[in-house]
Amino acid sequence: MALAGWIMDLDGVVYRGSEGLPGAVDFFERARRRGDAVVVVSNNSRPTVDDYVRRLARLGIRVEPEEVISSATAAADYLLRQGVRGPVMVIGEEGLYQALREAGLTTVPAGPGAAGADVAAVVAGLDGRFDYAKLDAACQAIRRGARFVGTNPDVTVPAEGGRLQPGCGSLLAAIAACSGVQPVVVGKPHRPIMEMAIQRLAARGVTTTQAIVVVGDRLDTDVAAARAMGLSSALVLTGVSSREDVDRADAKPDWVFEDLAHLASVLMS
Ligand code: PLP
Ligand code: CA
Repeated sequence: MALAGWIMDLDGVVYRGSEGLPGAVDFFERARRRGDAVVVVSNNSRPTVDDYVRRLARLGIRVEPEEVISSATAAADYLLRQGVRGPVMVIGEEGLYQALREAGLTTVPAGPGAAGADVAAVVAGLDGRFDYAKLDAACQAIRRGARFVGTNPDVTVPAEGGRLQPGCGSLLAAIAACSGVQPVVVGKPHRPIMEMAIQRLAARGVTTTQAIVVVGDRLDTDVAAARAMGLSSALVLTGVSSREDVDRADAKPDWVFEDLAHLASVLMS
């Protein structure tokens, strides 16, 4: 089978922290040689697209900005597709602000200065400076009728030394509790980020979803997202989910590989 389109998760697949994972550089080189289309898709809304391009370049992997999708760019894309054009209140970091601005949306930072702001939506991603004033501003705006959009559902994210830190999902839970409204979440395993990835691959000539493989390290986000979209999936064991998790899971990936090197030797030979 000629595989033509790849939706590549980043953390736990291509890199972990600042370290490149086995086979990552070779995977991208092979994909280029074969003429396959690739998009990298991360649930992390904090980095900007340029941050992702630079981070991959440091590992020896060259990607174009158009090949990078994060839950921040997916949130901006979702708002545009929903017809939102008015100002949006933001809880998040530079990656999210930049994605929204590039989509032509006016951003209003949540906080004391935003109390009473008339916004079309509240968009929340992970924000290391999340506090009560931001929570209150979001709560008031949503109670006044603004849409509530979250970048990604991860309640925790892996940190140095094997610790788990609060992720965007934990902030979304706080905003949902006080506003009484559940967010539309755009990141994996939900559809909007995957629809955006499929669209980007289509723009690069991959016109049938049968030719697309999703590569990820998590059953609950990457593999679940692939299955929800009817796409094939490959799990690599360099991140969160283990072989035991796969054995226990009802929804299994099509392939399981130790790492990208093994994946490439089977699926790109
Ligand atoms: N969100 C944050 C803040 C993260 O640090 C990470 C992983 O490091 C993720 C989400 C998940 O990213 P990915 O989809 O690339 O695995
Ligand atoms: Ca991952």
